[in-house]
Amino acid sequence: MVQNAEFQGIILFSKDYREKDRLVKIFTKNSGKKMFFARNVQRKNNFLKQAIMNFHYGTYIGKLQKDTLSFLNDAKIVDVFSKIQADLFLNAFATYILSLLDAAIEDNKANPDLYSFTKQSLQLIDEGYDAQIVTNIFELQILSFFGVQLNFRSCAFCGNTQDKFAFSSYMSGIVCLKHYLQDKTLYKANPQVIYFARMFSNIYLDQIKSINISDKIKQELRIFIDSLYDEYVGIKLKSKKFIDQMKDWT
Ligand SMILES: [Zn+2]
Repeated sequence: MVQNAEFQGIILFSKDYREKDRLVKIFTKNSGKKMFFARNVQRKNNFLKQAIMNFHYGTYIGKLQKDTLSFLNDAKIVDVFSKIQADLFLNAFATYILSLLDAAIEDNKANPDLYSFTKQSLQLIDEGYDAQIVTNIFELQILSFFGVQLNFRSCAFCGNTQDKFAFSSYMSGIVCLKHYLQDKTLYKANPQVIYFARMFSNIYLDQIKSINISDKIKQELRIFIDSLYDEYVGIKLKSKKFIDQMKDWT
């Protein structure tokens, strides 16, 4: 018989199940992504009802099953990314990050580092750091979980690390100025865009506080990363479409 246990997690989403219950998907720190059954959670004044809403995270209590549905019984210390919750734009970026995470990882595979990375990404957006930059970093660093390994370290031909670079589809990585000409599969991207993509692909999130990027380069970065996702990942998330539409509102 599985006992109740405390665990840390970030709510990915929840949906109604029958009249009073709810299914809740949680990215747990030490057991990976899991689906939970929360019984009778729709009652009024239920603490757990609040704690499983979008953008909540913290310590939950439940019975963790290995391969079947787990049970969520209570919440202990729960917090919410309140600015994200209140702001439609921040909400859109955070929703996209969480749906990208959901698409990238399998159930039940623990990854505490990825948990911390995801939590810190949301925290930075909640604290007011540039949501697009945080999202771009998340997109580039989660690529490996989709099985995509791109070489942003050095020129794929000569190993050069100190130059202006282009991105080669053929080499799945960057190529330096000297070797541009040998490659007919280059992405149409400004060297400055590649510069930031290189930086983002292995930056620690703590370092983003010093990054400043012009709107023009940010727009081009968006296009570049979209092209990478089209070529190497090929998923179409509703939450991403929403971000793309937001551009037209401003
Ligand atoms: Zn080269």
